[in-house]
Amino acid sequence: MLTSQRMNNLHPYVPGEQPKDRDYIKLNANENPYPPSPNVTEAVLKFIKAHPEKLGLYPDPDSLELHAAIADMLNQTGGVLCRAKVNGSKVEPAPEDKIPFKVTPDMVYTGNGSDEVLSFVFYAFFDSSKKFVMPEFTYSFYPVYAGFYNIPTDTVPLKSDWSLDTDEMLVRASKNAGGIIFANPNAPTGLALTREQVRSMLKKASPDEIFIVDEAYVDFGGESCIPLLAEFKNLVIVRTFSKSLCGAGQRLGYIVSSPELVNIVTTVKNSVNHFPIDAVAQVSGKEACKNAAYYVECSKKVAKERDLFYDFLIENGFYAIKSSTNFIFAKKNGISGEDLYKGIKKEGILIRHFNTPGIEDFVRITIGTESQMNELKKAFLKVL
Ligand SMILES: *Cc1c(COP(=O)(O)O)cnc(C)c1O
Repeated sequence: MLTSQRMNNLHPYVPGEQPKDRDYIKLNANENPYPPSPNVTEAVLKFIKAHPEKLGLYPDPDSLELHAAIADMLNQTGGVLCRAKVNGSKVEPAPEDKIPFKVTPDMVYTGNGSDEVLSFVFYAFFDSSKKFVMPEFTYSFYPVYAGFYNIPTDTVPLKSDWSLDTDEMLVRASKNAGGIIFANPNAPTGLALTREQVRSMLKKASPDEIFIVDEAYVDFGGESCIPLLAEFKNLVIVRTFSKSLCGAGQRLGYIVSSPELVNIVTTVKNSVNHFPIDAVAQVSGKEACKNAAYYVECSKKVAKERDLFYDFLIENGFYAIKSSTNFIFAKKNGISGEDLYKGIKKEGILIRHFNTPGIEDFVRITIGTESQMNELKKAFLKVL
């Protein structure tokens, strides 16, 4: 055998397809349809032009300026872009999102996409001798890392309305004593728990076990759990630039947690690849955070198109789950998820279909621009 034993535990993630045979409208990977702020492009060009030598030097190992910019952006927006108020270039959190303390740079850790961040978080906080709890249908990378690190999982079915069974998750967590992870809003359902619901979970969970909330989609209509960090020292919040900050191409994800837990994840990073986010991503990430107003507008546009598309689906006889994210999970009697996906692809648009038993009737549709969604509606009517 050329390969190690542990290769048998690997079940790599299958990303949304990126075919090259034709220019598809891509509504299959939950990317943002809008480009980054023009100021981001400008800052990156300026950085490379003015400091070409920096591409030949190692980047700031601590990403200090980037962490300060992220902390600033969270304090300004309350961690929920689509509800924040814009006044010129100034942004203010919605009253219900205001964080009752200041997020500081030492509460932030950044990595190469939240996928990498999650991998270090799994390594740091989950144990191969104890099961961790996750929902049956959630981000499909969690089981991938469980295999990678040989961590046993305890998977809790969703309730019949597709929401998380928080009571059962707590029962299992207290039995296994190995921690909890879920996405909030959840994927691929799009449903969110309120901050109060998460608080009540945290109150019942053991403070000695890790509690991880993945907020990849929170900016499109969820409630961030950042305000709960003051109360709960076992809480780790994972976030990303890939969805609401129009930055999937720059691979930038982060956690917000206590400085102690941030240090622990940093120790993992320094034991694998001690350099951080590359120099260009540090510049673009920093500039994105300074332009929160632009991203607030993008998130609001996405949320508006999402609600319009939900209405369209309902009018056309679909079962659709009301979403707090930048995608909608929907199905229709009489047409399989796979046939719907294939039919829409013929019309030049990619949406996502999962073969996973239990959700194979559904398709997951990423919300695009107004004109992309109009194209999509035409394609749906044609296929139906
Ligand atoms: C997209 C997504 C991520 C990964 O984002 P990257 O930062 O691009 O790696 C993490 N969690 C969830 C729930 C996601 O949907």
